[in-house]
Amino acid sequence: MNEKYYGPIEHLENNLTANMEVSELKESEWNKFEGQRKALIEFGTKEVFGKLLGFEQAFAANPERRAIICIDEGCTGEASHLAGSGCGIPEEQLLSQLKAAGITEFTTHEGCGAWALAHPELTDNASKEEAVKVWGKGIAEKLNLPYKHISAAEMKRPPELHNAFYAIYDATGNFNRDRVPEMGPGFVTSPKYFASAKADLELAAKIAFGAHGFGSKFDQENPFVLVGVYDPNNSSLSREQVLADMQEVQSKFPADYVKVDLIDTPAPELVQ
Ligand SMILES: [Zn+2]
Repeated sequence: MNEKYYGPIEHLENNLTANMEVSELKESEWNKFEGQRKALIEFGTKEVFGKLLGFEQAFAANPERRAIICIDEGCTGEASHLAGSGCGIPEEQLLSQLKAAGITEFTTHEGCGAWALAHPELTDNASKEEAVKVWGKGIAEKLNLPYKHISAAEMKRPPELHNAFYAIYDATGNFNRDRVPEMGPGFVTSPKYFASAKADLELAAKIAFGAHGFGSKFDQENPFVLVGVYDPNNSSLSREQVLADMQEVQSKFPADYVKVDLIDTPAPELVQ
């Protein structure tokens, strides 16, 4: 993880209110996705995700709308993803990257872990929420784009738990998990547009392995999965590059605790 961007991971753990309810929730969420989790390890991404209803449609880009949304598994949609919506990237750099990426909306979200990591000086939730909204609104204004703060109620995960068991490294720039309702929760990162995506992927895995995620439930038999999504016809990010980036992230975790897998985009005629 790039500590310059996100600060030490301990901040995340310090914020945890460990109690029985969270551990029960963790257990039930872990079991809820057991079938898909285990199948992903045993049969691979292409066999499991590739055969889910709507998988082809996950790549059907909507040119009218591409928001910036956090990599958080609770906030998927028609979007490109940056950890904390890019709050760790120096502002001028962020603005120029967002302009180049052709974004149509800027969003932030409630309880953003990346924002908390980047701002350890904000200790209570109310000031974190206030500050992230001021920052997000300011960025949106500078880009002349609409701004939205996604509330915890709108997010698709329990507010107390990161229930992701995989992270997508989307080299196509189009992947939208919302179009595949049967896909379990996973982070989404956007290497097509952002050089920081590799650091985002690492952060996603660290969150999953941390106290807010499934943590020690991941092991050699139940690894966290990095899923590279690439387009064989798009030369901007090759299969080899996607694989190398994911392997670099994988190497920062204990052996066999992180699995790397790849899936190529469906044939263009299937994506409508
Ligand atoms: Zn976030």
